[in-house]
Amino acid sequence: MTDPGRRLYRDAALLVDGGRKLRPGMSLLVEGGRVAWIRPVDEEPAADGARIVDASGCTVVPGMVDAHSHLTLPGGAHWIERGRDPPERLVAVAEHNAELQRQAGVRWARDVGSVRAVDPVDGKERALALGVRDRWKGRTDRPYVRSAGTWITRAGTLPEGLGIAAADPAAFLAAAAAQLDEGADFLKLYLDGPTPGVSPWAAEEIRPVVELARGRGAKVTAHTSYLDGARAGVEAGVDALEHGFELDAELAARMQSQGTFLVSTLAVFRSWATFARTTSLARFAGEEGRDRMAKRRARAVESVAAAHRAGVRIATGTDFGGGSLRPNQLAWEVESLVEAGLAPWEALASATRVGGELLGEPEAGTVREGGPADFFLVHGDPLSDPTALWRVWRVAWADGPA
Ligand SMILES: [Zn+2]
Repeated sequence: MTDPGRRLYRDAALLVDGGRKLRPGMSLLVEGGRVAWIRPVDEEPAADGARIVDASGCTVVPGMVDAHSHLTLPGGAHWIERGRDPPERLVAVAEHNAELQRQAGVRWARDVGSVRAVDPVDGKERALALGVRDRWKGRTDRPYVRSAGTWITRAGTLPEGLGIAAADPAAFLAAAAAQLDEGADFLKLYLDGPTPGVSPWAAEEIRPVVELARGRGAKVTAHTSYLDGARAGVEAGVDALEHGFELDAELAARMQSQGTFLVSTLAVFRSWATFARTTSLARFAGEEGRDRMAKRRARAVESVAAAHRAGVRIATGTDFGGGSLRPNQLAWEVESLVEAGLAPWEALASATRVGGELLGEPEAGTVREGGPADFFLVHGDPLSDPTALWRVWRVAWADGPA
């Protein structure tokens, strides 16, 4: 019997030397969802019955890790309002987002926050991304999901109904425990507070939350737009900072020595810049708004550059849904990392292998004999041109009939 999933991807270029170099003329046989072998095209073993995919002109890229996703939210210029859409709608949005991710070569979605509500499918009251994660298990047409549950904030920071708002350190700790009880894979602390630029919690107040998570085998990440919250989080020992728009050299050095990841989300600034022409919203289209965004963007690019110079491990994400990007725009972020001084191969590693390290998934970001067929095909060389990642032809883990 012919394995319907048995495919020979013939004559593509492969990333070798830890993703630093391209080797053309390579073929891969996929069967049962795994890579059976990888050989030069003129040394192919017999592969009787396999469907031949002429992959000439393509580069084989490991399935990407969008380390900052919000699966249940659609993004766009009104991204915050969309969080108020009814749960039925948000759960449907997640299905659409998964389609877009697959077509864009995204294999992993690390969900860093969804609205807590009664799930219209399973009836459980908890962060909606948790039910989505559970229902997608084992489906090859859906991304692998890790979900942080909902945002844990200080009261007065986010609009009512988004996340759990804690009024004091005891409530903060209780909210963290509750998220783990409801099935969160890791915790998402919101370390921007009601007063912009001031950490909502001191490091001593964050540390018990980190210890609680560690004790239960979970990691902790912290949303930080400003330096003060980033410092408090790192001092308390969080595993990662999201955004990190205001890091400095000293904090970057400390992150490097503690092994703290940075999850960059620079493309949000590029997205907002486009809204100056495509919307009439004052904060994007007005002169003052454009000026403010440009300054924040320059500071954020400097931050990532400082982290890179210090040797911080940089994973990356679109922030789709929780920001204005869409789920099929991770290539934009890889381009942004190159702007921040990463070599194209390093920027691609951020969107693949380093994201896998953050998730504790050694197979994410590698294509090897015996490993999962989690790769996709693009046109062009992403090691010299990150825009190649926009030109996806097909994905091997959920390939079509042709
Ligand atoms: Zn976000």
